[in-house]
Amino acid sequence: MRNMKIARRGTQSLSQGLPEYFSGSVRIDPLFSAVEPSRADGARVTFEPGARTAWHTHPLGQTLIVTAGTGWVQQEGGPVEEIREGDVVQIPPGVKHWHGATATTRMTHIAIHEQLNGKVVEWMEKVSDAQYRRP
Ligand code: MN
Repeated sequence: MRNMKIARRGTQSLSQGLPEYFSGSVRIDPLFSAVEPSRADGARVTFEPGARTAWHTHPLGQTLIVTAGTGWVQQEGGPVEEIREGDVVQIPPGVKHWHGATATTRMTHIAIHEQLNGKVVEWMEKVSDAQYRRP
């Protein structure tokens, strides 16, 4: 029998979003990693105003739980949608999208996704300033 694991607040190393994959200031706090046979892992991500991911897809989809602030999310071909604290967004597998803060407000979400062959994300081009706009 395996034992449960408690990761205490503040004990896990945080990282900055890599400039290849994010625009602006992004802080990533890993929350949990997949332990076989589970494939799900999760992280808390905080976007400063103006910050956002690049366009990307997730092989098995992604769930975003907004825990603070107001942000924007967009699926390719769809409108920019505003998301607020308490909102939950489910991104289907393989759907191209981006998420981030609004231009003027910070946003924090918890992101949960499952690995497929060890991968959780496929990164694409940056979200341009023309694409990043008020809905
Ligand atoms: Mn995503």
